[in-house]
Amino acid sequence: MVLDLKELKEILEREVMQRMDHRFLNYEVAELKGQIPTCENIARVIWELLEPKIKKGRLHRVRLYESADLFADCYRNGVGGRLVQSREDYRTDLAELGRSGAAPLRVAGLKIELGRRYRFAASHRLHTEALSEEENARVFGKCANPYGHGHNYMLEISVSGEVDPATGMIANLADLDSFVEREVIEVFDHHSLNEDVAAFRNVVPTTENLCIEIVERLKRFPKANLERVRVQETTNNSFEYDGNQKGSAS
Ligand SMILES: [Zn+2]
Repeated sequence: MVLDLKELKEILEREVMQRMDHRFLNYEVAELKGQIPTCENIARVIWELLEPKIKKGRLHRVRLYESADLFADCYRNGVGGRLVQSREDYRTDLAELGRSGAAPLRVAGLKIELGRRYRFAASHRLHTEALSEEENARVFGKCANPYGHGHNYMLEISVSGEVDPATGMIANLADLDSFVEREVIEVFDHHSLNEDVAAFRNVVPTTENLCIEIVERLKRFPKANLERVRVQETTNNSFEYDGNQKGSAS
């Protein structure tokens, strides 16, 4: 084992559950005083509570689900803040934040992402003019069927950025939802990917290519940075694409 799970469970129980379970987060959790208890802020507070207590191993990531379709991730990262290499650095950061009297909205080196899930249904046919009918059948199997077939796709996106102290959010959810709705859901939902989406006229609409097309559409979201896109085609297949890809068409 990397670490004793029983010990981890005890830390979680003591630091998180006893503080937050069945509490009014605005008033009963001292660490959230003066902050809006958004998923982003709560995930960060949980990180700050857990990280110093985990002596064996290292806390890699905290993911907090507010619902099945909304979650926040918190982890250490050298980008956007000083890379914290030791517990001493971390203590110094916290002490400095304490001295400045500012709410610790940004602990150096901590990165926070907002995750959101969406769903759409679409049909496609996996087939390319570049191959013969036999080769298409061999490569794509039943998916090369000329009549196509459909999937209930699940799209998961993660965005990062500064947590606005006024709202406690990286990006306003209504803004994010309406952008994704317009750029992706309205375009793909109940459509034939091959026939109705220009990008797939000459590109096979595999889920890999779907991920790339969705990144191209969503990286233009002006209010946060697109970190990644994951598309689940079936419960057995999901594909992920880094939203920070450079050099692709805009
Ligand atoms: Zn398919």
